[in-house]
Amino acid sequence: MVGRDLHVRSSPPGTDSVFGKAKGMVFPRVVLVGHGVLEDLALTCRQFGFLERGAVVTGPKTAELAGNRATEILKADGYAATTIIAHEATEAEVGRVEGEVREHGARFLVGVGGGSKIDITKVVAARLHVPFVSLPTSAAHDGISSPRASLHGASGRTSIEGAVPIGVIADTELIVQAPFRLLASGCADVISNVTAVLDWRLAVRLRSEEYSSTAATLSEYAAQEIMDHAESIKPNLEESVWIAIRPILVAGIAMSVAGSSRPCSGSEHLFSHALDRISERPSLHGEQCGVGAIMMMYLHGGDWRRLKHALLTIGAPTTARELGVSDEEIVRALMMAHSIRPERYTILGDNGLTREAAERLASTTGVVG
Ligand SMILES: [Zn+2]
Repeated sequence: MVGRDLHVRSSPPGTDSVFGKAKGMVFPRVVLVGHGVLEDLALTCRQFGFLERGAVVTGPKTAELAGNRATEILKADGYAATTIIAHEATEAEVGRVEGEVREHGARFLVGVGGGSKIDITKVVAARLHVPFVSLPTSAAHDGISSPRASLHGASGRTSIEGAVPIGVIADTELIVQAPFRLLASGCADVISNVTAVLDWRLAVRLRSEEYSSTAATLSEYAAQEIMDHAESIKPNLEESVWIAIRPILVAGIAMSVAGSSRPCSGSEHLFSHALDRISERPSLHGEQCGVGAIMMMYLHGGDWRRLKHALLTIGAPTTARELGVSDEEIVRALMMAHSIRPERYTILGDNGLTREAAERLASTTGVVG
């Protein structure tokens, strides 16, 4: 159940004629989505055969919203459960939480919160080799079911491998209470799969990169679902969470199938990572990826207007101003994006964009100006 146990290999050395491919895929075993499913937490833990001690990792605010309730539910069912309050997702905080989990002797974890608390939980779970359940209180990106975790380091945000949750409990009654901006950001993150998959196919053609049509299809399906239902995704409407959450979860599954973030992370994500480094006040991950996807879709010669329209309909940012970053930061991020992860080949190529091309791209798509 630990993400880093994933492996992909082709033919073993010296055995060209023998079929030698092997691949591991790790998925959540149970995914519960809907109104009030938080109440099924203990039952779900029993189904997994979890041992007696568990810890709920949550934030100061999300503890009040759902974390304390999660601990109560576990206790009422006979578990020796404790609540661990986690703060910002940093390496130091991961170490501190890991220490508390050890002290309590917890044999399973429940991550309750937005992205950062679940990210901390998935890294601690991977390091201690204990299973964990993901219980999101918001859905700002596709990380709620994926093994990737984003930590803040000295050089900005870094993405590291954590564990895949054994269970995901997505309670729409909880998630609808989070600011709508977060859900819109999660939708934008999934819409950006469209350019990630185009980049992947390009890398397959130009670099013979490993490809999974199943993972690509799942990823594109998730993006399509959000775009097709963009008009139904509105603030303060639990039905909107119901519509959006499943594609967000499917995007995480696509990454599990691929064994990497490739199906959901291409040039638009490189742009977002560049913006994280350049901007004084970076915006939400999903929001930045959505804006990146508009521009990368233009570079791919695809229907970038449709993508932009879907983002506008949902209420996600489509411009520098709406992201709260400067025009110059957008241009510099476009010029820097190709160098963020050189092994991840995308439409940006090996040399990236010239300043002139970056400025034209950003203004033609209406992101700046
Ligand atoms: Zn993303």
